Amino acid sequence: MSQAPADADARRAIAPVICYPPQTLPQPDIALYAAALDRAETVSVAVAAPREACHFRVKAGQFFRIVSVEGPQVGDLNLWQDGDLSERFYSGKTRALHGTHVSTGQRLWSAFPHLRPMATIVEDTLDWYGIDAYGGAVHDVIGTRCDPYTGNLLSGTQYHHCCHSNLIRALSDATGMTPQEAEPHVHDVLNVFMCTGFTRDTGQYFMKASPVRPGDHLTFFAEIDLLGALSACPGGDCSSEHSSDTAQCYPLRVEILQPKAGALAGWQSPARNGYDGSHGR
Ligand SMILES: [Zn+2]
Repeated sequence: MSQAPADADARRAIAPVICYPPQTLPQPDIALYAAALDRAETVSVAVAAPREACHFRVKAGQFFRIVSVEGPQVGDLNLWQDGDLSERFYSGKTRALHGTHVSTGQRLWSAFPHLRPMATIVEDTLDWYGIDAYGGAVHDVIGTRCDPYTGNLLSGTQYHHCCHSNLIRALSDATGMTPQEAEPHVHDVLNVFMCTGFTRDTGQYFMKASPVRPGDHLTFFAEIDLLGALSACPGGDCSSEHSSDTAQCYPLRVEILQPKAGALAGWQSPARNGYDGSHGR
């Protein structure tokens, strides 16, 4: 190990600054969304079977709600603009803007060059959980998704029901693409209901049993037309392992809700990012 400099403690003692203070982010009108949700009606339902994924479409101005049914289950969510798969959820920038875990009032942002809110969280029945003594919290944007490649790397397995493969099949079903065509569009997820953090001593990514119970839900307002895919992770509640058929798994339900006419007066779907795209040339 390298010799610490004489002023090591002084350097460590410098206080951090928040990289992206959120005060100047465009703020969602949560009261408007809540009032619209209050009288909204369910217009369609999709169900992700255990160790499978479903797809769903949500029009800008509608809501979608991910509901725990039957038992504790974690979900891996991908979002694209319906009609332009190049605009997809950007987990890393969402993390940079809001933090490692997201809840009510925070938004899922799209990739460059779009960088606009795709969806806004309007309800989270697990918001009471907070940050536990291990540093764990719910609904993370730090994990990637369980995938067969890492499983093969670590233990030589050929497992076909990781969230990565489930999302590929769901996108293939939604678009008619082959799995090989769909794969490059699958991206880092929002880990719905998953309880995760980083160990304080080694900084390693950890998971623990999700606190979710049947009836819990996470509800989003669609800011743009969305195609979504949700995988019911083979890890179940992710209390012990994933990427196998060992864990107890349950389905997840996705409800699409339509607000009453006029309920969103004053709301506009956000425009694409205002940067001119010239990059100095
Ligand atoms: Zn998974």
